[in-house]
Amino acid sequence: MPDKSALAPRFLGEGKIVFEERGVPLPGPGELLLEEQANAICGSDRGQYFGGSVVTPGHETSGVVLAAGPGTTVREGTPGVVFLMDYCGECGSCRLGFTNQCLAKRADMGFTHDGGYGPYELVHETNFFPVGSDVDPVEATMLLDVMGTSGHAISRASLLRPDIESVYVAGAGPIGLGLLVMCKLHFGADFPVRISDVSPWRLRYASSFGAQTFDASSPDAIAGLPSSDVAFDSTGKRPARQAALAALTKRGVLVCVGHGETLEVAVSDDLIAPERAVLGSEYFRFAEMPHNLQLLRENRDLLARVITHRFDVSQIAAAFTTFLSGESGKVVVTQGRGQ
Ligand SMILES: [Zn+2]
Ligand SMILES: [Zn+2]
Repeated sequence: MPDKSALAPRFLGEGKIVFEERGVPLPGPGELLLEEQANAICGSDRGQYFGGSVVTPGHETSGVVLAAGPGTTVREGTPGVVFLMDYCGECGSCRLGFTNQCLAKRADMGFTHDGGYGPYELVHETNFFPVGSDVDPVEATMLLDVMGTSGHAISRASLLRPDIESVYVAGAGPIGLGLLVMCKLHFGADFPVRISDVSPWRLRYASSFGAQTFDASSPDAIAGLPSSDVAFDSTGKRPARQAALAALTKRGVLVCVGHGETLEVAVSDDLIAPERAVLGSEYFRFAEMPHNLQLLRENRDLLARVITHRFDVSQIAAAFTTFLSGESGKVVVTQGRGQ
């Protein structure tokens, strides 16, 4: 067991991060104490980065089981990743497998309870997903928002549109890049994916994955978007959502993945006549992880390219500065053990 306390980054707000001693908890019944290995930075960390946080942030986490509480079956030393929602497993949503819609979740890891930027994290065994020791701990974080959230959004669109022949992605940040890569994996390397962003760096990076790119700062470019069967909005911005809706084919589906602003829908012209749909998609179901782990193993080089930067946790401030510059893919913070 580690010492009773250890240094963990504390987010004070306004971009200030200091290191403070925090107690190391003991795992209770059904719980695991993880020794963290890596945590990917997410756009939704912005709230804690600018607004401060009483808990240690970080929700795209991979770690190793250091101590297992009573009643658990996962062995100490098992590597794995943390599912954001500490779902109950018993409510109406969980019983049907919709663990991302749990009606009685115990925690959102990294938001309501200590998350992955610290050296240790306490999780329930049920929201820990073991991966093999063959999977690099930094790359394992791709199973979460990059592969999980994107794959779930594609499955949501496929519910209404099983014959998808083209996709448009608004926003080429980490989630947009994840959607692009997962579309290529699901539909094939030659499958047409259009993507837009205001950052020239992000557009260049997206085009290296085979996307057709559109400059979102150019009204002409956005007005000239080709029609796509499915559009994903990862920006959360109203103009981006409106443009995505306008660029759908008949029977097209807009999936909103980025939280944020509103969308104006003219029900007759936008939905009824063309039989279009607008859907939300939130994180993913725990049961989607085994398939994504298989995809990660089979497409390791492609998915590893989504990660553009790695920083030791002692450089966490620089990691956030890089992430917020708009000139990165995924930025991963490591705990400097065995990397
Ligand atoms: Zn995230
Ligand atoms: Zn539940």
